[in-house]
Amino acid sequence: MGGTLRVAVLGAPGVGKTAIIRQFLYGDFPERHRPTAARRLYRPAVLLNGAVYDLSISDGGPGPAPELPDLKDWSLQDMDAFVLVYDICSPDSFDYVKVLRQQIAENRPAGAPEAPIIVVGNKRDQQRQRFSPRRALAVLVKKSWKCGYMECSAKYNWHVVLLFKELLSSVLARGCKH
Ligand code: GDP
Repeated sequence: MGGTLRVAVLGAPGVGKTAIIRQFLYGDFPERHRPTAARRLYRPAVLLNGAVYDLSISDGGPGPAPELPDLKDWSLQDMDAFVLVYDICSPDSFDYVKVLRQQIAENRPAGAPEAPIIVVGNKRDQQRQRFSPRRALAVLVKKSWKCGYMECSAKYNWHVVLLFKELLSSVLARGCKH
C-alpha cells in the first residue's frame, strides 16, 4: 500500500471541476448534471509506479464556492497537490485562480512542504472563444507563479488523464506525506 494522496480541485463555479473529475474517474461527461453545491470527496484507489494509493479528490473548497475565493479557514496543510481550474473563455475565472494561488501561498503553514499546483485551462474545445493566447498565460503561470500549466477538455477527455498523471508524479517525486 502506497499511502494516501490528497488532491484539491478548485476554481470558480462552472469552470468544469466536476466534469474533469468525473471524466478522470468514470470516463463520462453528462451533458446535464446538477452543479456542485458543496464540496464533494471522491476516494478512488490508483496504481502508481507499481503501488496502490488511496486518492482523495476534493471537488471544490470549503462550502459552496463564493464569488471570491476564500481558503482562510481551510486545512491547506493536509493537501498534497492542487488543481486550479479556469475556463479558457472566461477571464474572470482566471482572476479567480490568481487569487486562489495567492491564498494557497499565503495560508500554507510555515514549514509545510510545498504541494505541487497545476493551473488548468478547461473547455479547450471552445478555443475559438479563448480570451488570451495559450502561450501568454502558460508563461505567466510557469515563470511568475512557478506552477504547472495545462489545457484540457473534460468534454472530449482531452489531456484529463495526463493532467492527473503529471500531478501525481510530481507529488510522488516530492515524497508522499500520509
Ligand atoms: P464546476 O462548477 O466547476 O464543477 O463545473 P461543472 O463540472 O459543473 O461544469 C459546468 C458546465 O460546463 C457544465 O454545463 C459542463 O457540461 C460544462 N463543461 C465542463 N467541462 C467542459 C468542457 O471541457 N467543454 C465544454 N464545452 N463544456 C464543459
